[in-house]
Amino acid sequence: MAIKIFLDELQNEQLHLEGELTPAELELALNGDEALMQPAGDLMYQITASESDDTLIVFGQLQMDFTAECGRCLKPFSFPVNLPQWAVALPLKGDDAIEFSGDSVDLTPWLREDILLRLPQHPLCGSACEGLVSQQETPPPAVEEPSEDWSKLDDWKQPKS
Ligand SMILES: [Zn+2]
Repeated sequence: MAIKIFLDELQNEQLHLEGELTPAELELALNGDEALMQPAGDLMYQITASESDDTLIVFGQLQMDFTAECGRCLKPFSFPVNLPQWAVALPLKGDDAIEFSGDSVDLTPWLREDILLRLPQHPLCGSACEGLVSQQETPPPAVEEPSEDWSKLDDWKQPKS
């Protein structure tokens, strides 16, 4: 089931929605470089929608677990994506208005987009991962990662098992 907001139901009131979307329903296609990350469960959502000034405002909580393969040591590790304060504002009128079918808006593309943005392109089991260095005579040259990626990884660093 896609997450659909029926604009009729938003007349002067908030709409609460919660449930789950399977990776297939989310149309989450992780191929190529992104294949290091694979969904390990459904997307769980608890969201509230309201309309104000011809803008659809949706906020709430998104959570989805992934399994990642470390790009250095190839060890699989779990990578939960938590968006406790997810929010999106979608204009319903004007030049930037979003498309809607009939009287409903499908929120699935925005959820998918924001989940995908949280997935690292170069997953590491930890920022201190030394990879396969112990199996080599000389350490491989350090690969410079964009600093942005590092700070994100630190946020979601998993305890080493
Ligand atoms: Zn690793």
